[in-house]
Amino acid sequence: MSTVQILPEDLINKIAAGEVVERPASVVKELVENAIDAGADQIFVTLADGGKQLISVLDNGAGMSPEDAQLAVQRHATSKIAIEADLEKIASLGFRGEALAAISSVSRFELVTCHDEAQGGFQLKIEGGKPPKTASLGFPKGTKITVADLFFNQPARLKFLKSVKTEYHHIFDLILRLAIAHPQIQFKLTHDKNLVLNLPKGQDLLARIADCYGTEIASELVAIEYEESYLKFRGYFSHPASARSSKRWQHAFVNHRWVRNKTLTQAVYEGYKTLLMKNMHPMFFMEIQLDPRELDVNVHPAKTEIRLRNTTLVHTILSGRLQRALKEASRRRFFSPEDEAEAGGIAAQGVQERMLPSGALPPGPGKLFVELNDQIGFEAGPPLKTKPEPIRPQRPIPGRLPSPPLETTPTQAPEPEESAFSFNSGSDFARPQPTHLGAGAPVYSAIGQLGKKYILAQGAERLILVDQHSAHERIRFEEIRGDFYAKKLESHSLIIPLLVELPPQDGLLLEQHLPQFAQLGFVIEPFGGNDYSVKEVPSILKDKDVGALLKEVLDEMSQFGRSGKMEIFFNEVFEKIACHSAIRAGQSLSLPEMQSLLNQLASLDLQIHCPHGRPVLVEISLTELDKRFKRIV
Ligand code: ADP
Ligand code: MG
Repeated sequence: MSTVQILPEDLINKIAAGEVVERPASVVKELVENAIDAGADQIFVTLADGGKQLISVLDNGAGMSPEDAQLAVQRHATSKIAIEADLEKIASLGFRGEALAAISSVSRFELVTCHDEAQGGFQLKIEGGKPPKTASLGFPKGTKITVADLFFNQPARLKFLKSVKTEYHHIFDLILRLAIAHPQIQFKLTHDKNLVLNLPKGQDLLARIADCYGTEIASELVAIEYEESYLKFRGYFSHPASARSSKRWQHAFVNHRWVRNKTLTQAVYEGYKTLLMKNMHPMFFMEIQLDPRELDVNVHPAKTEIRLRNTTLVHTILSGRLQRALKEASRRRFFSPEDEAEAGGIAAQGVQERMLPSGALPPGPGKLFVELNDQIGFEAGPPLKTKPEPIRPQRPIPGRLPSPPLETTPTQAPEPEESAFSFNSGSDFARPQPTHLGAGAPVYSAIGQLGKKYILAQGAERLILVDQHSAHERIRFEEIRGDFYAKKLESHSLIIPLLVELPPQDGLLLEQHLPQFAQLGFVIEPFGGNDYSVKEVPSILKDKDVGALLKEVLDEMSQFGRSGKMEIFFNEVFEKIACHSAIRAGQSLSLPEMQSLLNQLASLDLQIHCPHGRPVLVEISLTELDKRFKRIV
């Protein structure tokens, strides 16, 4: 009963099939990847019943000789690697040499191939892992593999397949991913005799994204490209204001392989950082090229997981570069020179950006871009041709403002009036000055306050409504963060230390982070028991409810902040400080105070959301008002 035996080949294949072939979509994946590896530029996939009844993949790749075809269906038979060292630098999608053996052991399998039309084609049929039947026949160069009745000899696995609709959706999503990774290849998908997808060959990535996911999505993307010796990446990333509540549109490809990889995703989120609204997710279609030696794909039979050799380096490069480019895109969107009327409203516009370490200066937008980083050149690309989107005034729309004059740099924006937001005393204001960025036209000029919550202002050809609390919070956040990193954050000693009582877990968390709190300007000491004595606070927080702030920060940290990433921690604290120190809704503001807030807001590069992710400003164009008043139709 317990004699050890070597299993028969057929059974080994079926066991292997358990890992490689989970469902029809995994068969399609293996077959299409083989076609791509064979150099095909046309791949036609045909399905019946969501692939449960039939899957056929036809390609115009290199094909196989009859000898190779017979070997190819055996286990551990591959043309893609030969020696151990090859495993370290895999350039093909396949390499394990087990897919065809596994698939043919659990289906009615037919392979027809031709690698040389002068010699004709070759057919090979395998029924559930039985010995192959072969024949010669006429066939053009390329390969066609047909897999019928998947799992017909494995009733237990058959039972686990889902409905036709579900299996079909898996395949459809998979083909889209493969198609995005290979825009040069024509993909055709036919399901139950209906042609559902026909993507032409030779497309560029953006056109492919538009064909696969729609022009609306494509129009919300920013192109970003970066190249250095270690790593190259290019791709399309959603404009921060166009993030989605779902992660459906997140695709990362490494050396043309669609992968799931935490480092990459985290780096992208890090790149968006404070630009994203809470619970919103960026869309990205990102292609990374790395020396194959820098990653290990031999992690899982499905080959969608990879291990990166130098995760820190990849993270740093990606997040840093993305952050720069996205901030720039945000800024550019606000100061976009496009003519509103021509764009047909405040429609989402695709922005094209190129990042090259060439040092070439961009044509057009001027110094704003230049001073960002002299290593990087930006180039404004042609705007996408998209259907103009009608204006929906009830939805907050991030503002787009006229282009600032060339000499504008953020540092040249007028100094915010210092006293403007120390609302404790009746401050003495200068005459309200409309916001100027440099010498050009005013950007916002205050009209008045609505419901003690919103500031109404006039922008170029539009009415702007600003949420006074969110806006001030955003301003504070940038200010605090700037001061912190410039080591200018001042602290204020409390004459009478503040005693704060914390639950034991939060107290522990606080004690573990005392040095970080000290960096922020908090001097806090344990006072015995669950009490802590706060002796100094950041100046910006004097007269504010520091106890409540500390509790909120610790609460947040206990939920999210244990990642050990100090930057995340600090951002969280900045957010809280910003919120606590910002003016509130319900506070009346004088015109000079409003103007001062607008001035400060305009000098920021990112005005879209408060750090909590609520919109800061909403705008309504004159055209929209004209329409509402029926001046125009
Ligand atoms: P792997 O892709 O890991 O090498 P497979 O079992 O998927 O293993 O395929 C075995 C071999 O069969 C491949 O290495 C390749 O040489 C050949 N092959 C499979 N599909 C095709 C195809 N569509 N066109 C040309 N050759 C193919
Ligand atoms: Mg393969």
